[in-house]
Amino acid sequence: MIRNHTGLHARPAKELVNVAKKFRSKITVQHGAKTVNAKSMMSLLTLGVRHNGAISVVIDGDDEVEAASVIEQAILSGLGEDVDTPVNGEAKTAAQPTKAKVAEEKVTESVEELTGLHGIPVCSGVVMGRIWRYERQTETITAAFQSVAADQAQLAAAIAQAQDDLQQLSIQAAAKLGANAEIFHAHSEILGDPDIKEAADQLIDQQTAAAHAWQQVMDGRAESMSQLDNALMAERAADVRDVRDRVLAILAGKTSDPWADMPAEPIILLADELLPSDTVTLDTSRVLAICTVSGSKTSHSAILARSLGIPAVMGIGEAAATMTTGTFSIVNGATGQITLDPTEDEKKAAQIEADTLRKRAEAAQAAAHDQARTSDGTRIEVVANIGSVADAEKAYANGAEGVGLCRTEFLFLDRETPPTIDEQTAIYRGILTAMNGNPVIFRTLDVGGDKPLSYLPLPPEENPFLGIRGIRLALEKPDLLRDQIHALLNAADAGPIRIMFPMVSDLSEWRMARAMVQKVQDELGVTNVECGIMIEVPSAALMADIFAAEVDFFSVGTNDLTQYTLAMDRLHPVLAKQSDGLHPAVLRLIAKTAQAAKAHGKWVGVCGELAADPQATTILIGLGVTELSVSGVAIAAVKANIRATAMTDAEKIAQTALGCATAKEVRASV
Ligand code: PEP
Ligand code: MG
Repeated sequence: MIRNHTGLHARPAKELVNVAKKFRSKITVQHGAKTVNAKSMMSLLTLGVRHNGAISVVIDGDDEVEAASVIEQAILSGLGEDVDTPVNGEAKTAAQPTKAKVAEEKVTESVEELTGLHGIPVCSGVVMGRIWRYERQTETITAAFQSVAADQAQLAAAIAQAQDDLQQLSIQAAAKLGANAEIFHAHSEILGDPDIKEAADQLIDQQTAAAHAWQQVMDGRAESMSQLDNALMAERAADVRDVRDRVLAILAGKTSDPWADMPAEPIILLADELLPSDTVTLDTSRVLAICTVSGSKTSHSAILARSLGIPAVMGIGEAAATMTTGTFSIVNGATGQITLDPTEDEKKAAQIEADTLRKRAEAAQAAAHDQARTSDGTRIEVVANIGSVADAEKAYANGAEGVGLCRTEFLFLDRETPPTIDEQTAIYRGILTAMNGNPVIFRTLDVGGDKPLSYLPLPPEENPFLGIRGIRLALEKPDLLRDQIHALLNAADAGPIRIMFPMVSDLSEWRMARAMVQKVQDELGVTNVECGIMIEVPSAALMADIFAAEVDFFSVGTNDLTQYTLAMDRLHPVLAKQSDGLHPAVLRLIAKTAQAAKAHGKWVGVCGELAADPQATTILIGLGVTELSVSGVAIAAVKANIRATAMTDAEKIAQTALGCATAKEVRASV
């Protein structure tokens, strides 16, 4: 029985593949009428196994006995995720919402009371312009079958070429989209899937030309994924199609530019859904707004639009058929409303709104490099969350006064061996140099549990979010932490560094980690390094008065603090709406932390997503937070919000929020 609450989706499926690949035996998984190879992630996903779905695993080979017990254990323990515990030996039967239901909830929640053409508002802003509908070119396959050997070799070469291209795209994407480049690793995984290649080779064996064989297999995969009753998995069908087209274009001898026909003057771009490779090659300076027929707040187009600040409306549905190329329209990214052929009055109203928003954004941008003070003079530092040297450069250019959170784990993931001290030192120096003398808070490695490291085998855990992660893992593997501290202190000659420990829940963890820093400081002769902790576990917030006597600063990780306070998985698709960092319970913990810090002359920042939420700025500073750490693109707007607030008002608003009963009440009160 698959007890993972979102079923056998990508993450647990990958874990099952990893476990299965350790054995020589042939291993298949049956679900309903389908049977697939357990060593192929794509095939496992096409089973569409949902929460509490039953599967049978058939294992045949010389290591079958050991394989059976290891695989059974892995499935029972949740394949790297937390799973439900059966009640009295029986599975709970809470139904997974269907794809249609999830989509319906998203739409009705966001576009309530709107009439006419509309979709899910994804990125705010009002624009007017002509629609240009992007039709994806699918290759017309003309190639005829030559011979089994020739076609199979041709396909293998095209797949290898596609892998190389993905590498390049991933570098471009990292520069354009920052941390969102991981999607290309997922594509690489699909390309390397042995089941897909084998299925295509079998078709070639039956005298099908390489391109036809590839298309047939990939269409089949995409189709079965898009039919799954699971919105998250169904969205990944777009990735399969992207990979399909990449190989088909190579087989057809083309290096296609999907945007060759796009007009030179700026347009409102309408697409069914933008594939990741489309978004990387798109010249966004010619795009006024992005509208998509399918897609949601978490789709690739949404991520692109938000990271570039382009107004966007997604999930418009069949009504988008009325949005023909050349139609003059208004797109309102804040409400999700689209007005085709607007009247003169509608145009005037939209122009006024667009001008107001633009002026506000321009004013914010013009002052992005100035310090932010409330209207009555309290200085609040606005710093950046980053994960790479490129992020640091962008954040600095956007007005960041330093880095409030450098997630260093990006250096440790997706590798076969840990990065060396020298490799780490070079990157940390690069980040400090990019910040030009401003302080950078490096958070030590925050992995484990849901973010496993291949070179650090840990036993599977029933509840990885409550397991060996963050500082707990670092203290279990002290060599890793010591090397990282060594590299950080080596880099201290390039700028002011601060060190922060993640997931601290107990004073002993902080003391051990701080002592380790001191030891390396003594060895290297480095003095004056400020050290602090993330407040992201309720126990740390409740004990903040004890911690405050010893730490130099606190930074509140509202993503995890909300997860652990409300007991809601931060990745849960259904609970996402309720999991709100403005819940009074979370705010009370932040208030307690800020009071404790103040009493000991220490400062408190916030580096979770809440720091960039316009409704949260006033409350957070009113509670005594003096540093907000947000993504580079949000810096100007956060500074503008601070300038528009008086501290005396913020304090009153924060006190009112602490007395509210629900997050909804808090939002209404702001
Ligand atoms: C947080 O939990 O709020 C945080 C900033 O850390 P991360 O999102 O990396 O867990
Ligand atoms: Mg966290």
